[in-house]
Amino acid sequence: MSEKACRKCHLIAKGSICPRCKEHSMSDDFSGIVIIFDPEGSEIAKMMGIKEKGKYALRVR
Ligand SMILES: [Zn+2]
Repeated sequence: MSEKACRKCHLIAKGSICPRCKEHSMSDDFSGIVIIFDPEGSEIAKMMGIKEKGKYALRVR
């Protein structure tokens, strides 16, 4: 299975259900990958409203 990104939380995961939102919100049309290690200290995480570490897509269509 290829990786997809959630339209709601932008988390990247495999499969069609977001492990965080538990919804069928995954899209394979995304661009830009950011890995957040330190959500508290990351400007990108703040900008995107990310509160947990993980791999995220910058844009999801
Ligand atoms: Zn999600």
